[in-house]
Amino acid sequence: MDKIVSLSRRRGFVFPSSEIYGGLGSTYDYGHYGVLLKNNIRSLWFEAMVQERDDIVALDSAIILNPKVWEASGHVATFTDPLIDCRTCKLRFRADQLEQSSCGRKPSKHPGETPDCDLTEARQFNLMFETHVGALEDESSIAYLRPETAQGIFINFKNVLQLARRKPPFGIAQIGKSFRNEITPGNFLFRVREFEQMEMEYFVPPAEAERWYRYWIDERFNWYVKYGIRESQLRKREHSAEERSHYSSGTTDIEYLYPIGWSELEGVANRGDFDLRQHTEHSGTKLEFVGDDGERYTPYVIEPAVSIERIFVALLVDGYDEEVVAERERTVLRLHPAVAPVKAAILPLIPRNADMVEKARGLYDELRRRHIVEYDDGGQIGRRYRRQDEIGTPFAFTIDDQTLDDDTVTVRDRDSLAQERLPIAGVRAWLEEALERPWRTPKA
Ligand code: ATP
Repeated sequence: MDKIVSLSRRRGFVFPSSEIYGGLGSTYDYGHYGVLLKNNIRSLWFEAMVQERDDIVALDSAIILNPKVWEASGHVATFTDPLIDCRTCKLRFRADQLEQSSCGRKPSKHPGETPDCDLTEARQFNLMFETHVGALEDESSIAYLRPETAQGIFINFKNVLQLARRKPPFGIAQIGKSFRNEITPGNFLFRVREFEQMEMEYFVPPAEAERWYRYWIDERFNWYVKYGIRESQLRKREHSAEERSHYSSGTTDIEYLYPIGWSELEGVANRGDFDLRQHTEHSGTKLEFVGDDGERYTPYVIEPAVSIERIFVALLVDGYDEEVVAERERTVLRLHPAVAPVKAAILPLIPRNADMVEKARGLYDELRRRHIVEYDDGGQIGRRYRRQDEIGTPFAFTIDDQTLDDDTVTVRDRDSLAQERLPIAGVRAWLEEALERPWRTPKA
């Protein structure tokens, strides 16, 4: 993980937030390449979940909802972690994670293992961030920053059913920020307090729920494989009955082998009719499906839920590679071209040569109209290639002496380092074709 954190910082993907003020635990700011990578993750998810489907529509609900939403959903009462305080070292630990935590005074021991440890009983701590709406700061004005985007979808079920004229099975997809006051955040972006969720609630006739649950586990698993994550580093883990939420009749985590071990990348749950029933009861608005023939039922919900942050880390970990080429070490991010922040670099071999610069800038202007590409004339060509390798740019077009004679350029492949020559006029078509090709990582 240290190598990923250091590359992210060195190349301007991610910075610790509020750094000049000493930071704020586990919050991060995204630099240029981080923004581009996040944009790609977001749009590839949207493409698969909405654009390419007839049965799913998009939604963007508010972050601050009527607090009654969180009472109905159960979050006010039960969205809690059990916490234990140590009266000696004053640190706070998750009761279910004592074995992974370190004692504040003797980090080689776990809390409770030294004679001086003085632990309290476990107490429930709500993970929602509280705020106040309006001018008054009293009980009546308490509101919460949403801890998940899903509830915004459930409360709009009726709107979508009527206005988008849908009938089950159909889904509503949403991407947006969620907030949780995590007690033990960490492991870089893996567990942060502010993250961007991508959730889809798929409403189905109850009798079909199991089938759709299995369908979405496979769909989501295959999406990761399609975008180049090694299948050997992914697995599906079905929760046992004890581990599941009380309303869930099935939950499967798609796990990735992060440097911290196998951990949840995405969760797929069969939530039954719990959410729609809760909101029907608390709001008095019937959230059910009524067919033309009078058939009437509360749909079951299948939910695939993930954060951009967990995908971001999985992609960087999976793509990170080091190798020695011609006795020089290089670090390369082997990202799927569709995911890569920058699709191609355009490099004049000799930056002082005005003709090369002119040709390179011409090609850059042509390609940037359609793609995120980068022009770079700073420093030796080897250094420029290495910079592009580290940000995962799959292709580099180099303008050299020969270009001035015959209008051809070299294209260098990030993974194989193979070079071939192309007519400059054909570069755009070549790039577009190359970006569409299936890609598999050469990493073992
Ligand atoms: P965990 O058990 O890891 O806390 P969870 O089961 O509480 O996660 P869900 O409530 O199912 O997570 O949230 C859905 C998805 O949102 C998770 O699969 C994960 O991708 C993402 N997610 C949840 N909490 C965080 C967080 N603190 N930071 C980044 N991503 C998160």
